[in-house]
Amino acid sequence: MKVYNTLSRKKEEFVPLNEGKVKMYVCGPTVYNFIHIGNARPMIVFDTVRRYMEYKGYEVNFVSNFTDVDDKIIKKAVEEGVSAQEISQRYINECKKDMSDMNVKPATTHPLATQEIDGMLKMIGSLMEKGFAYAVEDGTVYFRTRKFEEYGKLSHKNLDDLQAGHRSIKVTGEDKEDSLDFVLWKPKKEGEPYWESPWCKGRPGWHIECSVMAKKYLGDEIDIHAGGEDLIFPHHENEIAQSEACNGKIFAKYWLHNGFLNIDNKKMSKSEGNFFTVREIGEKYDLQVLRFFMLSAHYRSPLNFSAELMDAASSGLERIHNAAENLRHLSKNTDLQSMADEERELWKGSDVFVEKFEKAMDDDFNTADAISAIFEYVKYCNTNVKQESSQELLDSLYQRMEQLCDVLGIILAKEEVLDEEIERLIAERQAARKEKNFARADEIRAILSDKGIVLEDTREGVKWKRV
Ligand code: AMP
Ligand code: ZN
Repeated sequence: MKVYNTLSRKKEEFVPLNEGKVKMYVCGPTVYNFIHIGNARPMIVFDTVRRYMEYKGYEVNFVSNFTDVDDKIIKKAVEEGVSAQEISQRYINECKKDMSDMNVKPATTHPLATQEIDGMLKMIGSLMEKGFAYAVEDGTVYFRTRKFEEYGKLSHKNLDDLQAGHRSIKVTGEDKEDSLDFVLWKPKKEGEPYWESPWCKGRPGWHIECSVMAKKYLGDEIDIHAGGEDLIFPHHENEIAQSEACNGKIFAKYWLHNGFLNIDNKKMSKSEGNFFTVREIGEKYDLQVLRFFMLSAHYRSPLNFSAELMDAASSGLERIHNAAENLRHLSKNTDLQSMADEERELWKGSDVFVEKFEKAMDDDFNTADAISAIFEYVKYCNTNVKQESSQELLDSLYQRMEQLCDVLGIILAKEEVLDEEIERLIAERQAARKEKNFARADEIRAILSDKGIVLEDTREGVKWKRV
């Protein structure tokens, strides 16, 4: 399997640090609002990378943080007159709901920056001891960038060019030794959340959070570190400097970065105001369509969002669903059990599509070609099955389709919900309503609706039906 490594700017053979295991860290969102579909791109593509690694038999330890302390969170909290924690917790919950609706698997661990302050104090302390960090009078701690000789190796930037760029932006009130130095710890401002530290009451810089969470949950050396390409510089460059200066080991072997999701060829972003939230898109389309659309391009290419492309994704997905439905239907109605000899040939003939799929995915996760392989497989199934096909052939073809789609996070059949499960949820909803916990009651209605169950409150009680 080959992966493109931003560090070497080449496709490299993937060799894990430990046989059969993959340690992977993906920078997660800052939680101060609903996530937009640009933020959803790294979630979907790196979830697909993880799924493919699992398909190949690797045990994947997947860590993705939530940045839950940040200027934007504090600003929102002030606007609403609530605590920063209330804001971050609210949007973590909303983000997890979006992830689940996009069929993004929960990470092995989702650490929160605010729960990891001790580790940050420790790493900053160690960097100070080693001469890689220093505190100034107001208690701000900076990383001494020039002391880390390999600084710039990820973004392929030259320190002197960087410095020249910095000189033109004179920041007043900063007393750092060098304009390239970046913040590890900063003093609190009035009304902001803060933690005690040897340098001042304050909070961590953004970059140190990821270095510490990766170290704690995955160790000093990891296989894959990933995120959107806007994170290459300075975030990931700074993470490398901190982690390698502190641990004395190569931090991550492979650095993977997704291209931007654009709108009218401009990066979708909160600050530009040119964004759609996942929630908004979910009102118009099944989020499986969004997922399929995202994977229709290579993860490193820019991708332009448009209604036409979403509609194309929707009809492509429908083609797959129809083929799957056909296999299920024929399987239910056939009288023949085992494969006949010529069916065995047919079954073997479908191996080639799996090979094509794997070849595409082995080539730096080329999901666009992998989807083409699935389409070819779908066509093969459609043309070769008939009413007289055996159940064994139909089920085998179906399972193979399911297996390939599962790598992409595409679900062929909604899970059947059992009547007891529905009754249990309805009872829980009634209890929540009694306690005036309407938020929970609404949530349960939404959970059931996702499963295709519609509730009707009548005089005789709650009635439900499948739609
Ligand atoms: P943020 O909350 O801005 O730190 O972003 C969380 C993740 O989303 C990071 O990996 C970003 O690189 C990624 N991201 C943000 N906007 C886009 C976009 N328009 N296209 C692709 N990735 C994005
Ligand atoms: Zn990060």
